[in-house]
Parts: sequence; C-alpha cells; structure tokens
Amino acid sequence: ALLITDECINCDVCEPVCPNEAIYQGDEIYEIEPSRCTECVGHFDEPQCQTVCPVDCIPLDPDHLETQDELHTKYKNLIAAS
Ligand code: SF4
Ligand code: SF4
Repeated sequence: ALLITDECINCDVCEPVCPNEAIYQGDEIYEIEPSRCTECVGHFDEPQCQTVCPVDCIPLDPDHLETQDELHTKYKNLIAAS
C-alpha cells in the first residue's frame, strides 16, 4: 500500500482517481486505507494517485510492504466483495 505524508496540501485530486476508493479525507490531510490500496495493481500500470499528486507526497508505506502477488490477491478480493 501507499501512504500520504504530512506534505499533503489537501488539493483533492487524488481521491477521485483511486479505482479502489482507498483515499479519504482524514482529520488533517487525505489518507489511504491500506486494506483497500492495491498500488493500482489490477487496474492500472502505475499508481494513479502518485501520477496526479502535485507535491509528490505519496510514497510506499513501509508498514504495508506487499509483493505483486499479494497486491493482486487483494485486488481480486476487493472485486469479489464489491
Ligand atoms: Fe488508490 Fe492506486 Fe493510490 Fe492505492 S495507489 S491509493 S489503489 S490510486
Ligand atoms: Fe494530498 Fe497529493 Fe492527494 Fe493532493 S494529490 S490531496 S496533495 S495526497
């Protein structure tokens, strides 16, 4: 999963591009729900939020490092649950 850092300026452009509805407005800044972030695996070749973020504040979440297989399994489970 990816993570939004406190450099976020609340510009709101990432939330609508997430195919998994993983991004939401938190108390101070936008946040990512790790259980819903597949790093865009299954939907796009690259993380859509990273490509649109104007301040480049969406790195990999060191507490939620996943393999491509794990991300793909998460994608399939999210699709099955939707
Ligand atoms: Fe959503 Fe993709 Fe960003 Fe994860 S990497 S939060 S799935 S847009
Ligand atoms: Fe914050 Fe970047 Fe999302 Fe804008 S695109 S709300 S700066 S994380």
